Amino acid sequence: MAGNDVYNAMGIYVHVPFCIKKCYYCDFVSYVYDREKVQRYLSALAREARFYAGMLTREEKRAATLYIGGGTPTCLATEDLVEIINFIIKHFDLSAVREITVEANPGTVDREKLTALRRAGVNRISIGVQSCSGKHLCNLGRIHTFSQAVEAVETAAEAGFDNIGADLIFGLPGQSTGEWKSCLNAVAGLGLQHISAYGLQIEEGTPLAGKIAAGELSPCDEDDEAEMFTDTMQILRKKGYRHYEISNYALPGRECQHNLGYWRNGHYLGLGPAAHSYLWGARFANESSLGLYEESVNSGSFPILSARSNNQETAMAETVFLGLRLIEGLNLEDFRLRFGKDVESIYGEQVNKLVGDGLLIRRQGRLRLTERGIALGNRVFSEFV
Ligand code: SF4
Repeated sequence: MAGNDVYNAMGIYVHVPFCIKKCYYCDFVSYVYDREKVQRYLSALAREARFYAGMLTREEKRAATLYIGGGTPTCLATEDLVEIINFIIKHFDLSAVREITVEANPGTVDREKLTALRRAGVNRISIGVQSCSGKHLCNLGRIHTFSQAVEAVETAAEAGFDNIGADLIFGLPGQSTGEWKSCLNAVAGLGLQHISAYGLQIEEGTPLAGKIAAGELSPCDEDDEAEMFTDTMQILRKKGYRHYEISNYALPGRECQHNLGYWRNGHYLGLGPAAHSYLWGARFANESSLGLYEESVNSGSFPILSARSNNQETAMAETVFLGLRLIEGLNLEDFRLRFGKDVESIYGEQVNKLVGDGLLIRRQGRLRLTERGIALGNRVFSEFV
């Protein structure tokens, strides 16, 4: 899983801002699917890709990974999704690409679509399973059942995918620790290569937050949620998954290369509304409104809403707190080669305190979270922000 190439070749992210229906907990940028809107989006996206292709050097156009996320990319027609992949291949250099992921939701994939994606070069599928319980899926406003999620996993395998991931959410309103454990066991029995498990974030202004405020649903008990986090580590590790990032587990060699690029603070280009980029030492974010994004691109401008250049101090802090999210920890020699400074010469005080509190450990040229530190990650990261 090593790869200094994450520093040399960028990751490309494409945001597809359409879904069949908005889930109750969602605050991502996504619109209800509409064929005409999709056509306008596709032409703006192709134009944005051309802008960057005309600006990046040959070397900078090399991509190590492509990740098509959303939204629900698979709610697009097969030919529209394949078109996205083809114009990315046309405008950038994907000759040495290691991973092409498409996010998929149950209820929006079939054998024909998945086979076409596989043929177009996609080698990884990430499926939004979220929960195994009909009750919780309904409370979340998901459009599918758990059986449809299982069917999506099976269909992906039949279509030739041997790198399939599932996303799960724990800490759901009214969820018990027993329910979560049996869900994890069920999902771990599906033969997946990758499992992500995130605690539910109740975002202000979402229908779910409204139902909780109105007393229609009660939030999960905090202690139960902490127990679910620990259970996840125990169960998935026992099933042979390698815990490689706070919320992510993979069979050996199946870690998500694109996300590893983010955690190693590598460069990436984000295309589409609300997509973020980190290039040329600057972080920038695209317009999140689809209308403003299209307007900007169609008038010949980059659809950038905000940008900030990263000075060395910020880049070092980001490299530390992103790197510490990885269970293998931060490679101290890589840091020194990248910035010409030792981590401890800059953050010695914070590191000593966190080591003293039993949250960090120095081992084999790396600085990493202890088991306790994994559970209290936010406390550790806040020291470096
Ligand atoms: S499928 Fe994902 S992006 Fe779409 S509404 Fe649901 S949570 Fe949001």
